[in-house]
Amino acid sequence: MSTPVRVRFAPSPTGPLHIGGVRTALYNYLFARKMGGQMLLRIEDTDQNRFVPGAEEYILEALRWVGIEIDEGQGTGGPHAPYRQSERRDIYQKEARRLVDEGKAYYAFDTAEELDAMRKRLEEANAPAAQYNAITRMQMRNSLTMKADDVRARMEAGEPYVIRLKTPRKEEVRLNDLIRGWVNVHSSAIDDKVLLKSDGLPTYHLANIVDDHLMGITHVIRGEEWLPSAPLHVLLYRYLGWESTMPQFAHLPLLLKPEGNGKLSKRDADLGGFPIFPLQWTDPVTGQVARGFREDGYLPEATINFLALLGWNPGTEQELFTMDELIASFELTQVHKAGARFDIQKAQWFNHQYIRQQPDTALAPAVQQQAEAAGFSCSPEKAEKIAALLKGRVNFAQEIFAEADTIFNAPTSYDEAIATAKWNDDAVKAVTAFRDALIPFDGEFVAETIKHTLSDAMTQAGIKQGKIMQAMRLALTGSGAGPDLMLTMEIIGQDETVKRLEKALDNLKVLKS
Ligand code: GLU
Repeated sequence: MSTPVRVRFAPSPTGPLHIGGVRTALYNYLFARKMGGQMLLRIEDTDQNRFVPGAEEYILEALRWVGIEIDEGQGTGGPHAPYRQSERRDIYQKEARRLVDEGKAYYAFDTAEELDAMRKRLEEANAPAAQYNAITRMQMRNSLTMKADDVRARMEAGEPYVIRLKTPRKEEVRLNDLIRGWVNVHSSAIDDKVLLKSDGLPTYHLANIVDDHLMGITHVIRGEEWLPSAPLHVLLYRYLGWESTMPQFAHLPLLLKPEGNGKLSKRDADLGGFPIFPLQWTDPVTGQVARGFREDGYLPEATINFLALLGWNPGTEQELFTMDELIASFELTQVHKAGARFDIQKAQWFNHQYIRQQPDTALAPAVQQQAEAAGFSCSPEKAEKIAALLKGRVNFAQEIFAEADTIFNAPTSYDEAIATAKWNDDAVKAVTAFRDALIPFDGEFVAETIKHTLSDAMTQAGIKQGKIMQAMRLALTGSGAGPDLMLTMEIIGQDETVKRLEKALDNLKVLKS
């Protein structure tokens, strides 16, 4: 039996989770569910300088909002707890020291000034890469160049030190990325990375590898920006003796600017007036507010559908997917190598598709609230009817109220072109006959009965209904096009309908007959 799939989403709480991070989490989740595997959440908070309060809660809330369920990890618990790296420092220290003991890493005492001086020296000598590596390490202050007693004495005296990886000088490092294929790197291109920092915390590289191993991760699915680190990670697996259970890698394509050239940035979002964060975020230091998909009115269903297709498609024409359909169709090997253009109009289109499918009761509260804030009375029933009438015409729930202008306000003017073309003697006759048929009105004033009343009145008056419908609409709304007219009348009610018809008869002049 093959090992069950275990993937992880491993964000760093350094600010609001970028929407690209949500896509990474989503691809991990889809893959895990598809394979009947598990999805872990690990918080990579070993860089204390970049820690931002509230960022971890934000991550959890964002994942919850889009419907990504975590099987194990931060916020859920599990057999490998703790899932916050800052609480696992002993684990990393043990592994780092083991590497030193096995001669695969070493202690280094160089100060920042000494490192700077080394870099300067190498740059002046036109060395190909000014870095701590197999050649330069022998000129520095570390446990390879210093006597063992000296090293011990310094450590006992509390002198700050780091642990560095002893990168081999000449070794080929290869990995087979599930999306990109073979990636080959020569170890001379990898420097002697710090594994354990002087504050006793691991760097990202060490902590990430140790945890992925201990947590039984089988597939590492993450952003393309980590591809350059992958050879180093392979090397670490080798040195730690875990190469045989090394996870498979899949590096996801970059998100590109809406125009398609260059990496998507916060600046693009600010200029374009669109969100690149799932939820609104208030910076705890500056108080600056960054907009979120949720607060901008995107539905979680639309957001995941949009994100799923940013870098992947099933090879069919299908565009609308529920989470379950995504799980069924998703294939890691179908993820594209090329960057994915962040087309916000497409996101709006998806939202439009999901808004029109929303139950009216879900959309009504926003309509009622906006209507009341604008000084109109609006019952929940009326708000629901308005939602039903107009949800197919908007991208966002909060746009429904603006679309409902002709419901809340009787026309103050009439479309001139339509009036000229359609307001003729027949129109006057039809509107008059319809008005007369509405007072009194038999039965409930709803679209169905209104429709019958209108058609009976037109038959009696000997007028072809098709010829006068635009004029009727003009009389009621001031324009020549709009949503279902019978429902519109139902919503504005009998009195208002009659009033509007009368007002039109008073104000519109027949220009030609
Ligand atoms: N902590 C890294 C990040 O914030 C995780 C990268 C990885 O998945 O290995 O993106």
